[in-house]
Amino acid sequence: MRCHVENGQKERMIPKQCSISTMEGFGKDLRMMIAFFTKEHADTHLGLIINMDWFQPFDSSLYSIELIYAVICNLPRTERYKSHNILTLAVIPGPKEPKLHEINNYLYPIINQLVHLWSGYYIVTHENKSGRFIRGAIIGCSSDVPATRKLCGFISARVACYRCYKLANFVNNQSNFGGFSDFSDWFVERDIDIIREKAYEWKKCQTEESRKNHVSQHHVRWSEIYNLDYFNPVRHCVVDPMHCLFLGVAKWIIMKLWIGGSILDDTKLKIMQKRADTIKIPSDLGRRPARIATGDGFSNFTADMWKTFIMIFAIPITWDFLDEVDKKILAYFVRACKILTSRELQKRELSEAFTKLVNMNKLIEQKYGQEKICPNLHLCLHICECALDYGPLSSFWCFGFERMNGILGTLIINFSVK
Ligand SMILES: [Zn+2]
Repeated sequence: MRCHVENGQKERMIPKQCSISTMEGFGKDLRMMIAFFTKEHADTHLGLIINMDWFQPFDSSLYSIELIYAVICNLPRTERYKSHNILTLAVIPGPKEPKLHEINNYLYPIINQLVHLWSGYYIVTHENKSGRFIRGAIIGCSSDVPATRKLCGFISARVACYRCYKLANFVNNQSNFGGFSDFSDWFVERDIDIIREKAYEWKKCQTEESRKNHVSQHHVRWSEIYNLDYFNPVRHCVVDPMHCLFLGVAKWIIMKLWIGGSILDDTKLKIMQKRADTIKIPSDLGRRPARIATGDGFSNFTADMWKTFIMIFAIPITWDFLDEVDKKILAYFVRACKILTSRELQKRELSEAFTKLVNMNKLIEQKYGQEKICPNLHLCLHICECALDYGPLSSFWCFGFERMNGILGTLIINFSVK
């Protein structure tokens, strides 16, 4: 890591984005935290992004393995998600995932070590036989929504947002996040002191029922992660763009609004597939969308396929099948994704991306109704804040962790065969 500082590489060891905005998340003493991440300490004061995920290694049986990973953000973006640089902190055996607060049993030893890491200790390295003093802190959690909720003790994302004060509306027992007339009232960062206080209160509840009531009222339960004094349960819980934008919003618009609403039918999907087949793209831009007209449409599309579809194919092959409002919805979403996925980000571009996502939400509500504003449509409004804290989406999205699942899954299956 030190080489990246000394060689003055183009990408700085301490990302530009790891500046004031991120540091605010570390607690009351901002000056102390700015002093924590300095060029002089670039290879001894570590910032970690952690991820919790689960996967099913076997095709023939239901068996879930849960994993907790970490990446070191001092490494350049091009390096930090390589499999040999990803730290596997825990492999939690199945057959079922630990539910909600049960995860604390597994978090406890990890958080204990992170408490020690924050205080610091000496590690013998190749260059320092007598040891170097290393400190480290979690500066982000990037997972899908259920895992983030579990890791930080939040109530279901169908009930309330964990970053702002937006509460779900319930119509016919279905939740939605529509209603933008009072946007400025609820799109406000939640008070982290209150979240912590309520999490501690949950821990003191004596009965299962009182705990349930407490969560319903205050939307948070205890997580061992709150033992990290510097941890900010709002700013450090990023909204993962892979799950939110591509597996969430992109899929929702195409499958629920347009295919579900008969705007795109089988005939149109077949035409779209033919058009897609004529578009040539460089192989490094991702996998071509090959199953647009298979099954109900977009069969088995992965996050990467949705990303490629939205960024490259959606407008040229879908445009003439859409009315003016849907054209705007698509154009706003594509523009926001293009800004957010670029390698360099300017603040004014982030502001444009945010405006496009808000307008997209409003148009969907206007045309399809409030009940179509799903949790991901709301959460995507927070991605620009995350990009302001952490930089371009590739700095914190889950694609690297997903690849790691694939690698570990192969190892487990091979092991079982032997
Ligand atoms: Zn929110």
